[in-house]
Amino acid sequence: MIPYGKQDINQTDIDAVINVLKSDYLTQGPKVPEFEQAISQYVGAVHAVAVNSATSALHIACLALNIGEGDIVWTSPITFVASANCALYCGAKIDFVDIDPITGNMCPKALAQKLKIALKEGQLPKVVIPVHMAGHSCDMQAINQLLTPYNIHIIEDASHAIGGQYQQTPIGQCQYSDITIFSFHPVKIITSAEGGMATTNDQNLADSMRLLRSHGITKQPEKMLRSNEGDWYYEQHQLGMNYRMTDLNAALGLSQLVRVDEFVAQRNRLAQAYHSCLNGLAIEHVSPLSDSYSARHLHIIRLGNASKRRMIFDAMRAAGIQVHVHYFPVHLQPYYLNLGFKAGDFKQAEQFYEQILTLPLYPELTTAQLEYICATLKGLLE
Ligand SMILES: *Cc1c(COP(=O)(O)O)cnc(C)c1O
Repeated sequence: MIPYGKQDINQTDIDAVINVLKSDYLTQGPKVPEFEQAISQYVGAVHAVAVNSATSALHIACLALNIGEGDIVWTSPITFVASANCALYCGAKIDFVDIDPITGNMCPKALAQKLKIALKEGQLPKVVIPVHMAGHSCDMQAINQLLTPYNIHIIEDASHAIGGQYQQTPIGQCQYSDITIFSFHPVKIITSAEGGMATTNDQNLADSMRLLRSHGITKQPEKMLRSNEGDWYYEQHQLGMNYRMTDLNAALGLSQLVRVDEFVAQRNRLAQAYHSCLNGLAIEHVSPLSDSYSARHLHIIRLGNASKRRMIFDAMRAAGIQVHVHYFPVHLQPYYLNLGFKAGDFKQAEQFYEQILTLPLYPELTTAQLEYICATLKGLLE
């Protein structure tokens, strides 16, 4: 089976993890701050806070922005459920902004329209979470311009997007957002097995997220509220979690980061090969904005004839090709239907979902495999 995504692990990555296993610290050692510093340098953000998953990063990002009961958070319906769940963890209400089917991302026009209605009804969100689907950057400048007048905060869900750029600026620099979060799950661009990172240029947000990832506990003498009792003393200031990344994970992430540009360049070459190889077929490629460089996490196509999607999906799986569908709209998940969402709420997203098919894309995919995938798809479409 040709998988839809796959990590690329070399001997240097393996040695990096083994070295940690032989060292004094398996967790809370030097590798985590090293990884944070490397990410912060790579994306050009002042702070980077490592955690055990992007889901945890989304949770503490929301908490650091004071999301709680009575607040409203908006995200895209075409995403992994974690982008929306983080609001619910905080006791807030979640709602969605419909997408632009060309990019698969939150549509600025739909956002403008929804803001108008929300303003009238006194239901403005406190945070909006645009998701860079497939690694294609959202139109962050447009989104930022719409939200800034109302002091609405922005968290970029860049789980798919490390190594990508928007307006010649690395994703994660937070040029148009408060916080950007990344995922290092094995199917993503680089991996730490499980792991996530939140980047920000705001010292207070970084401090708050550092506290929240480790029980809300501080050991910094200058932060103590009571008098220091001695070297054993620490204070809990907030209700935090244990969302810490281990040094094993950080060492793997750090080693993978060395090759991120290589991975993304190869993913872009393969995406170009899909474009040439599938030229002339009744399909559209979900594509990045012109002033951006996509990290190309996924290669998603839209079929001209949506009614053939199931047949094509099953036939390709039968041919040993693990095509996929990203994503089933979050608002139609049974859990979200129970919250009151229903079919028809976000029509572009629902139509998009019916048409899409994710083709395999990962650095080690060979030209021969890609040609076999294209030939199989062609045969089924004709
Ligand atoms: C993978 C993913 C997440 C969650 O990442 P984890 O590191 O697995 O928690 C969140 N948002 C999106 C868009 C994702 O694809």
